[in-house]
Amino acid sequence: MRAEVERVFFKLLCRFGLQRWWPKVWRGGSFRDEVVIGAVLTQGTRWENVVIALKNLERAGITDLKAFFVQPDGLLYELLRPTVYVRRKVKTLKELHRVLGGGLPPRRESLLKVYGVGEETADVILLYAYGIPTFVVDNYTRRWVKRFFGRDMGDGEIRETLFVNDDLLYLKEMHALIDELGKVYCRGKPNCSRCPLKGECAHFRSGSGG
Ligand code: SF4
Repeated sequence: MRAEVERVFFKLLCRFGLQRWWPKVWRGGSFRDEVVIGAVLTQGTRWENVVIALKNLERAGITDLKAFFVQPDGLLYELLRPTVYVRRKVKTLKELHRVLGGGLPPRRESLLKVYGVGEETADVILLYAYGIPTFVVDNYTRRWVKRFFGRDMGDGEIRETLFVNDDLLYLKEMHALIDELGKVYCRGKPNCSRCPLKGECAHFRSGSGG
């Protein structure tokens, strides 16, 4: 399985190139905190709207979690309005400031105890903000795994299957490349004819590919 996953990685890399995630929006401030804030804001929200909200924060001079924490909730609701569930997200980010404020690398279990932080958000924070090796599993990943391997897997098994090594470049890029694949080819209705993975994909080989 490891060799197969590595082959997928190189094929996706050849097709799409380096994705260089996590995308930076602010011109200054704390990039680590920008990733944490972006990871929460992107829940249930298109990335384009997250960018608008991040720029609103930057214009208001809020470019780290400490500055975010001291703002009145009402102002933050206004600035984050382009996203959804803003009240819950403000609460989550203020709690995250308490957990992350000590400066020590966070533990996954501690992040998962924060209100509004699920496994995907926790893993984004660990990997992209703190450089702690983990694999981020999202809806694109679940859909692709089910089609490519031809069976359902739980998130834990997906994480184990795709965590073929602890190299940060691989972990960051593989997650981003699978998302790109999911946007371009492996969509709700897959466009398999041009997909670089069709030769090895169970879904395509079963004759159900689009
Ligand atoms: S061949 Fe089709 S189903 Fe398989 S990964 Fe590519 S787009 Fe998805």
